[in-house]
Amino acid sequence: MLPRSVVRLPPLPTVRDLVKLYRLTAIKQLSQNFLMDERITDRLVRAAGNIRGHHVCEVGPGPGSITRSILKKQPQHLLVVEKDPRFLPSLELLKETCKDISNMHIEIGDIMNFNLEKGLEGIVKRDWDYATPPLHLIGNLPFHVSTHLIIRWLQAISEKSSAWSYGRTPMTLTFQKEVGERIVAPMGHKQRCRLSVMCQFWCNVEYKFTIPGTAFVPKPDVDVAVVTLTPLRVPLIDMPFHMVEKVLRTVFHMRQKYCRKGIGRLFPKCVNDELTQKLLVLAEINPTAKSFELSNEDFVRICYAYKMLCDENPGLAEFDHRMPKVLRPDYEENFYSTWQASAV
Ligand code: SAM
Repeated sequence: MLPRSVVRLPPLPTVRDLVKLYRLTAIKQLSQNFLMDERITDRLVRAAGNIRGHHVCEVGPGPGSITRSILKKQPQHLLVVEKDPRFLPSLELLKETCKDISNMHIEIGDIMNFNLEKGLEGIVKRDWDYATPPLHLIGNLPFHVSTHLIIRWLQAISEKSSAWSYGRTPMTLTFQKEVGERIVAPMGHKQRCRLSVMCQFWCNVEYKFTIPGTAFVPKPDVDVAVVTLTPLRVPLIDMPFHMVEKVLRTVFHMRQKYCRKGIGRLFPKCVNDELTQKLLVLAEINPTAKSFELSNEDFVRICYAYKMLCDENPGLAEFDHRMPKVLRPDYEENFYSTWQASAV
């Protein structure tokens, strides 16, 4: 028996038949791997929680298997954003067949450039401190897109823009299994990295389940993780996103070395020892801990201490260890002369 919140869709050809009918062979460049098993797509949608009567945005619907599982849950409105126009006929068929169940809207476009705030226009905005809004983002995206996308979305969360101008919109997304493990990795975990801390600074993260690679057509080389991310009412940090991203990227650069090495890379050579020592004291960090052994709270203190040093030392915030080598001598010279002058 179907649960009360789930409806049976009107008769439709199977997704497998549609893929054959429209000759939708998977395009490797778009990393297309399709899920055909309804039990798995239903489980993925269940992982998003209650979506009945809510608004849903599905990213990368392809031929529409997850889309069908979403529609069975009767959302009020479903927006799908798909890059490959070959899927339009099968999505149009789904839209037409299910028009009495949900109001479906199809956009052919690239999610990396898509204006979600506009695409979701009309949804009542919910206060950030309140419960999550009746809006969900769901997607089984190619791995290379989902990692870039989550960083972009974390920035939007930090700015309460895009889909997060409506409130603390939760996301249920797939990642390469290893990336899913990184997202949720706690302090000391072998997968702990910049992505773990970035996600955990702004979101509550939950590893829901693993989809074996064999469930996809064609089969990818890896298993897949389903992860939900729900923006925190109070993020662990209140600092410009780019500065946080730079600090975490730099400190995790030498993951297996003592963290003081990575922290040192935040500073120009001429003041490296002095400012590294200052930061370690300000943030109360054990210099011989490795970056993956530090807690989220340790990283919060590192970020704030770095910001304090940037406020005290004009020009420091512009330093990035990835700065092209040719620009370094000029930068270091200017920085050092300002630094010496301010010390007098
Ligand atoms: N959701 C379908 C499923 O689970 O069977 C398809 C998943 S397939 C891994 C990824 C889908 O995302 C493909 O349909 C692909 O064309 C689409 N896609 C890839 N890059 C995209 C982008 N930048 N914006 C929107 N869709 C994209």
